[in-house]
Amino acid sequence: MVEESKIYVYMEAKKPFFITTPIYYANGLPHIGHAYTTVAADVVARAKRLTGQEVIFSTGTDEHGAKIAEKALLEGKNPQEFVDGIAKAFEELWKRLDISHDHFIRTTDAQHKNVVTNVLTFLYDKGAIYKGEYEGLYCVGCEQFKMESDLVGGKCPDHNRIPEKMVEESYMLKMTEYQEALIQKIESDELCIRPVKYKKEILSFLKGQKLEDISLSRKNVAWGIPLPFDETHTTYVWVDAFLNYLTVLGWDGKSEMPQTWPADVQFIGKDILRVHATIWQILLLHLGFPVTKTLFTHGHILSGGKKMSKTLGNVISIDEMLETFGVDGTRYLLLSGGTFGEDMDLTPERMKEKYNADLANGLGNLVSRVLKLSERLQGRYEPGPGVALSSPYIECMENIELSQALELVFARMKQANEYMSQEEPWKLAGVDQERFEKVIRVILADLEIIAFSLNPFLPETAKKIQTALREGKTDPLFQRI
Ligand SMILES: [Zn+2]
Repeated sequence: MVEESKIYVYMEAKKPFFITTPIYYANGLPHIGHAYTTVAADVVARAKRLTGQEVIFSTGTDEHGAKIAEKALLEGKNPQEFVDGIAKAFEELWKRLDISHDHFIRTTDAQHKNVVTNVLTFLYDKGAIYKGEYEGLYCVGCEQFKMESDLVGGKCPDHNRIPEKMVEESYMLKMTEYQEALIQKIESDELCIRPVKYKKEILSFLKGQKLEDISLSRKNVAWGIPLPFDETHTTYVWVDAFLNYLTVLGWDGKSEMPQTWPADVQFIGKDILRVHATIWQILLLHLGFPVTKTLFTHGHILSGGKKMSKTLGNVISIDEMLETFGVDGTRYLLLSGGTFGEDMDLTPERMKEKYNADLANGLGNLVSRVLKLSERLQGRYEPGPGVALSSPYIECMENIELSQALELVFARMKQANEYMSQEEPWKLAGVDQERFEKVIRVILADLEIIAFSLNPFLPETAKKIQTALREGKTDPLFQRI
């Protein structure tokens, strides 16, 4: 069945299709935002595998830095103990959400630390790193020096606080020598930034100012990887975190580029777009490696139109979602709540409504009614030899228009439901048996396509429908809430 369904053909099947999520900062437990990015990446990974493509899908945790050391201290743990606990929580959540990643990388892995050390040596020897003094506006909340252009009303927009002026001896990574090259690569889509509005945003940023060199080390932060050429400094987030995308491929930081590089799709939230589109790409250019193929940027999840915060009391808990809606219900709500790429607004009421309408009353009800009716068929229904996915669906999947692809599947489901209401096959059985057979077989064939198309999104449900079609029976797919 899968063989026959290789409708979408990939031009480059030579290397595995490499998909990454960001590695998540291990200063707290995973939340709905992490789940959102990771489920989306999982959908693309599963869709590629369905076509027979070899896939490498990686995720992980970013585990160094002052903020983590502080958090550990507050909990009376040493930093390693603390991040071990956080990493475990992430891995458990991915298991519950049916995430099919191949690698979970942690920046405290010995192999990763070794690569970072090797790369820092390489960059220093090459003259890409120099000792400087960095003066900047430092947001303690972000643990980042901010540029004026990042601030809103003089304040860090993420933390609503005025950053402090800070001067510090620091090693710097040269940025400007690749600025023009980077602009060209983005303009030509060699580095494809999607949705396209984000491409425009980055281009106008890059054309509007000379990039500042990046501070890549800190003094007085013990919880980090020491610079091999000056052990009084530890490396600051950039080199350490971004290199995960290479070390996860088994690279040693010295020899040739790993064969699976470049990444085909790197998923990121819009808050980390700029650093991924500039610092990470320039780091690659310093190494002499190709840039990322596609940086796919998604928006944030809002709750009742507002950013989630404990103070507002509008935090949507991913654990509660899983308890209420189950794995596939949660995956569905994350991907269907708005246009993927844009901000998405969720509320508990709307999620419940959508779950009941689309899954329990829609898909679940259709499957159980049709299977019940199919008991009255003369001769079994045999699933066909292959499934032809619709070309709009394929196109959406290729363009990572995930919510639109899902809408197409559910539109088909609604059509099948309407067809059933029109034809009223329950009145036809034994009366106009020929017509009854035709109607039921049409809907069963539709269900096959629906199940196949749902596979990347709702893997468990798709499997249940496919099994039910073979066996002629099923338990209810979704309990109404
Ligand atoms: Zn901040």
